[in-house]
Amino acid sequence: MIGIIFGPPGSGKGTQAARIETEFRLTHLSTGDILRSEVARGTEIGKEVARVMAAGDLVPDDLIIRIVQRILRDPDGSSDVLIDGFPRTLQQAMALDRMLAEEGHRVDFVIALEVPESALVDRILHRAAVEGRADDTREAIAERMHEYHKLTAAVLDHYRKRGVRVEVVDGVGNVDEVFERIRRAIGISSR
Ligand code: ADP
Repeated sequence: MIGIIFGPPGSGKGTQAARIETEFRLTHLSTGDILRSEVARGTEIGKEVARVMAAGDLVPDDLIIRIVQRILRDPDGSSDVLIDGFPRTLQQAMALDRMLAEEGHRVDFVIALEVPESALVDRILHRAAVEGRADDTREAIAERMHEYHKLTAAVLDHYRKRGVRVEVVDGVGNVDEVFERIRRAIGISSR
């Protein structure tokens, strides 16, 4: 089972992904978390991406594609995965489809969380105060929103055209309410 979760910055996608991981026994694969860990550990990749990430821009497609490929090819890894933060561009989506096809797999579902922009900025600035993420400044947030809207629509269209289940879920509400909507979206349509 391969699921993808989309959502603009601050949409609660990471929180919901963690819930989905437990409830549906999918391994949560977050490209944002992986990159932040590379930066924190000061690896070669980390040094390469730190500035791009802090500005809210996307890291190069080939770099993130290589990282995801390495993880998905790991024979010890689970074959049931929820991917969070990838694919963010059409190039990435096509690369993912190719990787999965090599193993006889495909994307089974896509969840797209929707939250109005006004609610997002408040949430992120609150998170910035608590966690201090380098890219949670007003400028970087605006850039990440812009990237998200510009590129994600194309990725969702790509999957719709290929007949993949794309579920748009209202992300306004508390964690439990939103999770319940996701559970229903995944559950009902798979029957
Ligand atoms: P958010 O959705 O809140 O912006 P993420 O944790 O998903 O946060 O990503 C944080 C940053 O990591 C992005 O702004 C980008 O710089 C980088 N990143 C993560 N995933 C990708 C990806 N698939 N392609 C390019 N850059 C990525």
